[in-house]
Amino acid sequence: MNLTDFRFETDADGIATLTWDMPGRSMNVITPEVMAELNEVIDHVASSEAIKGCVVTSGKEAFSGGADLTMLQGLRDLYVGLAREKGEAAAMRTFFDESRKLSLLYRKLETCGKPFAAAIHGVCLGGAFELALACQYRVVSDDASTRVGLPEIKVGLFPGAGGTQRVSRLMQTGDALQMMFKGEQIKALPARNSGLVHAAVPRDQLVQNAREWLKANPQAKAPWDDPKFKLPSNKVYSPAGMQIWPPANAIYRRETNDNYPAARAILSAVYEGLQLPIDLGLKVESRYFAKILRTKEAASMIRSLFVSMQELNKGARRPADVPASRLKKVGVVGAGFMGAGIAYVTAQAGLDVILIDRDIEAAEKGKAYSHKLVSDQIMKGRAKTADRDALLGRIIASADYADLKGCDLVIEAVFEDPTVKAEVIAKVEAVVGPRAIFGSNTSTLPITGLAGHAQRPKNFIGVHFFSPVEKMLLVEIIMAKKTGKKALAMALDFVRAIKKTPIVVNDTRGFYANRCVGNYIREGHLMLMEGVPPAMIEAAGKQAGMPVGPLSLNDEVAVDLAYKVLKATKAQLGENAVDPAQEKLLAEMVEKHGRLGRKNGKGFYDYPEAGPKRLWPGLAELTKSRLDPELIDMQELKERLLVTQALEAARTYEEGVVTDPREADVGSIIGFGFAPYSGGTLSYIDNMGAAVFVKLCEKLARTHGERFKPNRQLKRMAKTGESYYGNAEKKTAA
Ligand code: NAD
Repeated sequence: MNLTDFRFETDADGIATLTWDMPGRSMNVITPEVMAELNEVIDHVASSEAIKGCVVTSGKEAFSGGADLTMLQGLRDLYVGLAREKGEAAAMRTFFDESRKLSLLYRKLETCGKPFAAAIHGVCLGGAFELALACQYRVVSDDASTRVGLPEIKVGLFPGAGGTQRVSRLMQTGDALQMMFKGEQIKALPARNSGLVHAAVPRDQLVQNAREWLKANPQAKAPWDDPKFKLPSNKVYSPAGMQIWPPANAIYRRETNDNYPAARAILSAVYEGLQLPIDLGLKVESRYFAKILRTKEAASMIRSLFVSMQELNKGARRPADVPASRLKKVGVVGAGFMGAGIAYVTAQAGLDVILIDRDIEAAEKGKAYSHKLVSDQIMKGRAKTADRDALLGRIIASADYADLKGCDLVIEAVFEDPTVKAEVIAKVEAVVGPRAIFGSNTSTLPITGLAGHAQRPKNFIGVHFFSPVEKMLLVEIIMAKKTGKKALAMALDFVRAIKKTPIVVNDTRGFYANRCVGNYIREGHLMLMEGVPPAMIEAAGKQAGMPVGPLSLNDEVAVDLAYKVLKATKAQLGENAVDPAQEKLLAEMVEKHGRLGRKNGKGFYDYPEAGPKRLWPGLAELTKSRLDPELIDMQELKERLLVTQALEAARTYEEGVVTDPREADVGSIIGFGFAPYSGGTLSYIDNMGAAVFVKLCEKLARTHGERFKPNRQLKRMAKTGESYYGNAEKKTAA
């Protein structure tokens, strides 16, 4: 055999070891070449009398992340091309055959007559775990880095290489569905306890354990290939089965609001497949897979959440001619809520941090936040005491600006007050070197204005984090008028070092993310003032695919902050820039009732000490009328909540605030949870087409006001049939 991606050797007992180790890659992935080589190996193992069985393992630090998603993207393009050339039916046939190749290959491995054993260390996900599921034996290392799972749902796909059929034949149906709906990554011991794998052993015994098993079980077959096989949850049409399926449907609805075709396909493939023998079950799964692969949801999610995100993480927007920064020491000024989080993620990345506040107590309090976060990790078994010591050793808390000397980058997160910020900028510039970059974490003050206080505006840039910093993946980098490319390169190198995803935007009030999400919250406020029952507003947000309703979200970010931003907008842009109904609501909430949000336990919700939060009954008094819920169009509420955000994204694009559709999309999903199934704000528009979107906006503008009026660029795109991604591609080609 002439193998490139694998090594193959056979020992004296006739046990072969296939080591997956793709050259030039840090992680193994399934590609057409890998599939071809695996096919050759299966033929060789099956036909060689001397070989009794074969261990499949990895030569890398992890087993494999699964299929190359760009390969799947390519399959979809193949379908579109064939449909154009040969018609839908012919395209579908070829597409079905192509998209089930991996499933058939794994079935061939499973039934070739010789047993296979997967020996897994590190992550083994998606198509790679489906390979392991087709092996008659699976052993994992009990290392903390080991994880198995089927996370396809996270990019709008579903496990199409046998995963839905094998997992549901190994586990209780409810557990299998849950695992696939959530795309959970499961650690070694829970994987063993749930029956997904057979054993968990120390890493150095892994391959030996698999070999011993093969020696002892040369005739092994998959359980479902035994005529006496019984399903773990019994037959679908049985009293036990009937306990499962009605609630499974309800859970599916609750978890997905029917927005994710892939989740529905999981449910159907398991339901139908469990009533059939395995080969037919696999065929049913393949039919669903071919269908899902062609959905706009899968295409948009793969594009935004995998391809674009990787491109942005790798520095798609970084000026190529600036050499990589040698970041060692970062200053953080302001050790409050945000500064403490920024210090933590920076130290976590192995960088030294000087954490400054007005006095040493405040600085130490900010550092204590890191202590708390690592201690929580230790409690969960995810970190060791030594990790905490090392991390805290990298953070120096201080009240002396002179300690910032030698910092390559300083980020300020002090009070949102231009005077305080100006004072801090001057103090920092006085001690750092001329090449140090200054980043501001302001969320509402234009960066160009703040840069006016700097002696070296070229070195001044916005580095806007989202809260809580340790959890949120997005960082918005804001270019002021005079920001130079070295500052941009340094900011992007920093974001990469702390393993977050950057988007680069131009300066404007609210930048990109807060402008869009601010509209979401405002729409919720306006609905409330129209008399829509608050529970319906919240449900509409979630049904539209947002992680939380607009009123909950406002409670999280603080109601008084929304009021403050509104007042500042009015002061600077005039009466017409704000909506009087929203102003009235916020004034009453904050000034009259002291309802500031979750932070004081009183916002749109009440937060009782015991039990879950509840909508505040007093909201009824604040609105002029109460609409009859029966007469409210839920579909329209959902549209309003998404359209207002997508339209704002379209405006930022026309204004040149966002310049790349990938950034608008990725930023919207990871920054504020914009309906992930859509692929993001601009994909939402592209997927329905600018013409349909403009019509929708005009309809909403007629009933709900000017704020829904589409912008000029969108109207032009509606006429010409252009799309954001189509235009971006043309721009790159030119
Ligand atoms: P905070 O009030 O929790 O923290 C501010 C900290 O700055 C305090 O510890 C204060 O003592 C310190 N400080 C004030 N003046 C100082 C000075 N002259 N020198 C040193 N330290 C000083 O506020 P926060 O919520 O962390 O917000 C900080 C910044 O981050 C603001 O610009 C805000 O707009 C921005 N931001 C906040 C959020 C959020 O969700 N809270 C999100 C993104 C950005």
